[in-house]
Amino acid sequence: MSLRLTHLICGEARASANGAWLDVSDPASGAIYATCPDGDKDDIDAAVAAAAAAFPAWSALPASERAAWMNRLADGVEARLDEFAHAESRDAGKPYRLARDLEIPRVVTNLRFFAAAATQFSSESHAGPGMLHYTLRQPLGVVGCISPWNLPLYLFTWKIAPALAAGNCVVGKPSEVTPVTAWMFGEVARAIGFPAGVLNIVQGRGPSAGQALVDHPDVKAITFTGSTAVGLRLAESCARSLKKVSLELGGKNPTLVFADAPREGLLETIVRSAFQNSGQICLCGSRILVERSYYDEFRDAFVARAKTLHVGPPGDPATDLGPVVSKAQFEKVLGCIALARQEGGSVLCGGGALQIEGDAAGGWYIAPTVIEGLGPACRTNTEEVFGPVVTLQAFDSEADALALANATPYGLAASVWTRDIGRAHRLAERLDSGVVWINTWMQRDLRTPFGGVKQSGLGREGGWEAMRFFTDTKNVTVALGP
Ligand code: NAD
Repeated sequence: MSLRLTHLICGEARASANGAWLDVSDPASGAIYATCPDGDKDDIDAAVAAAAAAFPAWSALPASERAAWMNRLADGVEARLDEFAHAESRDAGKPYRLARDLEIPRVVTNLRFFAAAATQFSSESHAGPGMLHYTLRQPLGVVGCISPWNLPLYLFTWKIAPALAAGNCVVGKPSEVTPVTAWMFGEVARAIGFPAGVLNIVQGRGPSAGQALVDHPDVKAITFTGSTAVGLRLAESCARSLKKVSLELGGKNPTLVFADAPREGLLETIVRSAFQNSGQICLCGSRILVERSYYDEFRDAFVARAKTLHVGPPGDPATDLGPVVSKAQFEKVLGCIALARQEGGSVLCGGGALQIEGDAAGGWYIAPTVIEGLGPACRTNTEEVFGPVVTLQAFDSEADALALANATPYGLAASVWTRDIGRAHRLAERLDSGVVWINTWMQRDLRTPFGGVKQSGLGREGGWEAMRFFTDTKNVTVALGP
């Protein structure tokens, strides 16, 4: 029987006011297995009104009580961790163990981390001659949190948690491509009696539900993770009412491999950085730049390893890569591979769709694809693919590597592989990138600032950066005497 999802509005599970529904597909088979409310402005209006009504009481709670509520949400997810992991794996087509070992545990960590942050957040004071100046950091009110499909609940809670911790009430809009775990999260909130209206989840498409949230005059800030094209549009919408906005957008991340790179774990980590979650992580390294003296050896080993990756249904324990998330994404990625061929690229492995037999015959599977022979200016090396496709390019010097690395409109993440510590620091300083890893990849500490430069985003999230984003700063000056 098909699963029927709901919104969470004012503590209640609701269908859309317009009665419309969207189909939710299983990427492993292409079959429709759930329906999701196709929310629009009416549902957003109801959710914003509920959030605004809940704001005075929620923002007045002591931080320790807000933290206690958030920890109860975390407990609720943790108690059903396996169920959440199965649901995420099915909805997004990601290997079950990736959801179970990384993504759903991170949901719990997001909630607990920001619960703790709520109790530790403080502001500054500046003592001056005859005057004391102090800063208040006050919650904004109702905030909108819009998230993509690639790490569905992980990124949804990465936004919701600091917003709630800082004392705001939330209207969240998860991706319509992967709505299931956000709905389950809403069910957890209802089961624990989470205060009505503090957290609202409106399901639906971007141009209708999402845009209505962005345009709502009572929404004070928007945090958005998604594509650069949509992010640019939202920045324009927010500018019209001077709404605060944080944008975490696309990437075309370089992996810089020098001949002196430490070999231990190198290949495994770079293969993972290229193909984890079928390359559908904004932090994946999709352009691998290798020092010429090491290029042939690295390429041969990398391609040999990529060929051993097992592509299959997400629930199969042997699966390294599941299907890509949707038919639209499947067609887009195949189009990018065709473009790479037209541009003169040589496909060293993969290069097309994979047909899996049995129940998965209708699924959207693509073989891990490695391409060489393309220059830095071509579209394959400058535009985001967001699939299991990487390119290899050789460089001759540190300056050459830096120029290649910075030759895209994006600037989200980079990794540098070298034993030369001076070079590592020089490059870290000069790379156009919000995040740089040296001899590692995807190591995250939630206290650190996270975000991109150039077309990869605006603003930073993580740790105190997120708590500052979700608060307004007020300076108060007190005269200490006549
Ligand atoms: P998307 O931009 O299509 O959609 C993201 C979200 O925005 C969805 O919930 C969608 O419904 C909503 N949306 C779409 N149009 C809207 C509108 N007009 N108004 C309001 N909301 C709207 O992105 P996607 O395809 O879901 O996700 C993939 C993209 O996300 C990739 O470009 C990837 O690089 C990026 N991403 C970035 C980060 C990061 O931290 N920088 C992390 C993950 C994914």
